[in-house]
Amino acid sequence: MGTAEPPKVNAAGGPGPATAARLGLIACHDCGLLSRFQAGGRLYCPRCGGVLHARKPNSEGRSWALVLAAILFYIPANVLPVTHTTYLGSTQSDTILSGVYYFMASGSWHIALIIFVASIVVPALKILILAFLLVSVRRRSDWRPEERTRLYHITELIGRWSMVDVYVVTVMVALLKLGALANVDAGVGIVFFGAVVVITMFAANSFDPRLIWDAMEKRS
Ligand SMILES: [Zn+2]
Repeated sequence: MGTAEPPKVNAAGGPGPATAARLGLIACHDCGLLSRFQAGGRLYCPRCGGVLHARKPNSEGRSWALVLAAILFYIPANVLPVTHTTYLGSTQSDTILSGVYYFMASGSWHIALIIFVASIVVPALKILILAFLLVSVRRRSDWRPEERTRLYHITELIGRWSMVDVYVVTVMVALLKLGALANVDAGVGIVFFGAVVVITMFAANSFDPRLIWDAMEKRS
């Protein structure tokens, strides 16, 4: 990014900065190349051959469907056991939350904190932020577009950290299998949990943050 100010007048001579859309340009989703927009027919990127769209196709509908699916999967991910521990003949099943409680009670509060933040707070936050952005776009809101764009980039950034929980269970199962006393197996909850993480990643990816700014331009 240079220090130059964006032009205050667009190509059509109207107020507001010159955007690619106003200048009749269209960016490739795959390689980022700007091409001139031509009416009619399917457009392909001259550099990589990808299909060109002014905006991600059906971004709102697709993101909504994935957010709703993530909410549905979030419930079994937290209610169903993620581990089954067999120790001296008795089996104990743990959900994410009871695992957090177990680590807290046994003094490993830092592990408890990591699992709590990565497995419960982050996915819930991500679902809430995406739902909020989708509602704001649908209502053509002009409320703090910079902050909303920043919120979107946060959801992209934090999503991958949720996978920490899958790693914790994997490492725990591997570690305890080494000791002959206890036997740990992964529960079905971890499958739903992995699904939540992957679905929210796709939901964030389907959302086109330019929709936030489109509503503002239509108003002015
Ligand atoms: Zn391209």
